[in-house]
Parts: sequence; C-alpha cells; structure tokens
Amino acid sequence: MREAGVAVIGGGAAGLFAGCFLKMNGADLVILERNAECGLKLLITGHGRCNITNLKEPRELKRGYHEASNFVYPAINSFPPSACVRFIEDEVGIRLKTEENDRVFPVSDKASDIRDGLVVYIGKDRIITGFKCVSIRKENCLFEVVSEDGHIVRAKHVILACGGMSYPHTGSDGSGFKLASALGHSIAKPAAALATVNTSAEFCGPLAGVTVPGVVLTLYDRGAKRAVSGGDLLFTHKGISGPSVMELSREIPARPDNTYILADLAPGITDRSLTELIDSKPRALFATALASLVPRRLAESLLDDTQIKCSGVTSAERKKVLLRLKEFRFDINEAPDINSAYCTRGGVELSELDRKSFGSGIIPGLFIIGENTDVDGISGGYNLAFAAASAHLAVKSIVG
Ligand SMILES: Cc1cc2nc3c(=O)[nH]c(=O)nc-3n(C[C@H](O)[C@H](O)[C@H](O)COP(=O)(O)OP(=O)(O)OC[C@H]3O[C@@H](n4cnc5c(N)ncnc54)[C@H](O)[C@@H]3O)c2cc1C
Repeated sequence: MREAGVAVIGGGAAGLFAGCFLKMNGADLVILERNAECGLKLLITGHGRCNITNLKEPRELKRGYHEASNFVYPAINSFPPSACVRFIEDEVGIRLKTEENDRVFPVSDKASDIRDGLVVYIGKDRIITGFKCVSIRKENCLFEVVSEDGHIVRAKHVILACGGMSYPHTGSDGSGFKLASALGHSIAKPAAALATVNTSAEFCGPLAGVTVPGVVLTLYDRGAKRAVSGGDLLFTHKGISGPSVMELSREIPARPDNTYILADLAPGITDRSLTELIDSKPRALFATALASLVPRRLAESLLDDTQIKCSGVTSAERKKVLLRLKEFRFDINEAPDINSAYCTRGGVELSELDRKSFGSGIIPGLFIIGENTDVDGISGGYNLAFAAASAHLAVKSIVG
C-alpha cells in the first residue's frame, strides 16, 4: 500500500504535465501508469516531432475546440501556450521553436525529448509503471486506487488522465471512460476525431501520395450541409487524409448512409479563369494547363482524354472538368476508424465538470483532464495544449 497527497492515473501527456505542476508546487504525488513507460502516445505525436502547443492567443485558440470552446477557455487562458512554452524551456530545460501556423516543436525535432524531460522533471521515484488501474473507491475522504493485480494506492485527491480510445496500443483504450462511469459520470459517446476517411478507393488509390494544397471541403449528410473545412488534402490508398479531411472526420455520423464530401480542389478557379487559361495555351495539352492549378497526376485523372490539346477543348468538356475541380464528390460508406484516429471525440460529459478546475461535480476531490474528457481539438498542437492547460487548472485548484 502506498499513500500520496495526489494520485494521477495515467502517465500520458496530461498526467505528466499534472505531475510536473504538482512537483513544482511541492505536492506529494504519485503517477500510476499501466505501461512499462510513460507517454507512449506522446512519443508518436507530430510524426515523432511532437507539436507540443500552438502559440495563438487564447481567444483565437479556443475556436479550435469545436463545441467545447467556451468550456476550455478558462484553462487555456489561465495557462496559455506562451506560458507552456516558458515552462518547458525554463523549467524542463527543452528548447522550442515555432513553425508555420504558430505550431511549436522541440528544436531537436524529437518527441522523446519532451517525454523524457517531463519524466525527469517529475522524478522517477514519483512514477509507478505497470499499474493498470481497475477501480477507484472513495471512503472517509480518501480515495483507494486499485490496480489489476491488487495493489492499492491511497490518496486525498485523484486526477484521472487516462486519455481517450484512439491508438489503443499506446495504453489509452477507453478504460478511463469506464473508471469515470463507475464513479457516476456520464460519457459522451466516443467516436473518431482527426481521422483519415475511406472513400472512392478506385479513384483515390492510384493517386496515393498526391497532396492538393488549399482545398475547401464540405461534408453533406442526407442532403444537409454538416461541416466545412479548408487546407491540404492527401490521397491515400483507401481514400483521403490531410488536415482538411481530418478536421471534418469528427462530423461523419456512425452510419454514413448518404454522406459525402464535396471538394473544391481549386478554390480560386472560376469558369472564366479556366476559359482564359485554356485560351492562353492553345497548343498545350489540357492536362498540362490544368497542372498549373492542381498536381499533374490529379489533373490527368480528372480528364477523360489526357491527350487532348487546349485548342480542342469544347465548352461541354470545360464545364465537365470545372465541375470535377469545384465539386469533386467523395462518397463515404464507413465511419472513420477510432483506433487509427489521432484523437477521440466524446468522453466525460463536460456538464459534470467545473470548467474552472476540471473538478468532478459528482465526486469531490476527483479531477478529470485531457482526452479523458469530452474535448477534442483540431490538429496543430491544440490537443497537447489542452492536456497541459487542463492539468494546470486541476493542479492549481488542488494546491490552492
Ligand atoms: C499519431 C498521433 C499524433 C498526434 N500528434 C499530436 C500533435 O503533434 N500535437 C497535439 O497537440 N496532439 C497530437 N495528438 C493528440 C495527443 O497525442 C493527445 O490528445 C494527447 O496525448 C492526450 O493526452 P492524455 O494524457 O489525455 O492521453 P494519453 O496521452 O493517451 O495518455 C493516457 C495515459 O493513460 C494511461 N492509461 C490508460 N488507462 C489506464 C489505466 N486504467 N491505468 C493506468 N494508466 C492508464 C495510458 O497508458 C496513457 O499513458 C496525436 C495523437 C496521435 C495518435
């Protein structure tokens, strides 16, 4: 039996940040992590480079958290990305750099530096690995946290930070939802967020690896417009991916019966500008002219005849290609896979948490942070920014 002031369940991004802030405040803490090492998911973030936060101002940043934007605001305002950068550089001792779209990475481009830095800052003696928590009880103002093999940790406060359900081999397999539910919390149905989308494989497969910059995507479900996103689109063997697609994926219903994405693959182009392009290059292949608008391989796959010259393009052919460019339809016949999603939509209902402390409205002394809650952000460092900010607010409330 071990006793601690605060037991943090889950040594992922949110749990490690919580551990750091507790340590910084001199609190007596223990981190309980099921895996043999902490932060397995952290290691694969940002393609192994870890996009740790995003330097947008909190008022702008909050817009990246969908329905939860107002809920997360006190957290990201109280511990904004600029404070997170200062903490990591000055306290943890890792140098960071800012890249395009305000995304922050370690100068070393190594996610392992972030993970290792947080672990060292906390101190290995405050971390118990191989502790898979299977139940949490509260008796006489003390929590009893029980592991799968019967070990018990007693603590005055518990911070639940078991993550969501995506990439379950990293440890976040949804058991945090079960633990919260057993304590009386409601769980918003988990679904994939930031996922690739399987669609029209016969069209996409041959284009696998092609990126189309700056597309605009509109998701329709049963005829109704459901969401719009913009950014780069990447063709994969089974469909489409890239930031614009991943952002829409959370809006795809569990049963996508009549669900499709209309892609504007060349947003700046109109019938007039396409006509001017064709007229300006009469001797060029139409495919070559189109390749000034979209990648060559895509340009060719939009044409029925790749050998036709601009001078031979009829008005009907121009209009057909324009429609394919402006309203390319990707039919979706399956919901995105939560296992391979970058983030989980759903989790502990926000109405049962205090947004100023991430404290449970059901069990005093319990705090729930990170992806264990019903918060998911867009890509660009938003999810790790939230993991850190929610951890900060919970710890602030515990240490006073
Ligand atoms: C491939 C990929 C790339 C990503 N890249 C980025 C990025 O660059 N920037 C960004 O902002 N976000 C990124 N994300 C999202 C980000 O990694 C997560 O949102 C973030 O890790 C969530 O932190 P968390 O601590 O809440 O959960 P996790 O990091 O999933 O940590 C949960 C921890 O709890 C442990 N655990 C679970 N159940 C138990 C239990 N019962 N007992 C004990 N321990 C338990 C798990 O083993 C795990 O270590 C990426 C995600 C993926 C999958």
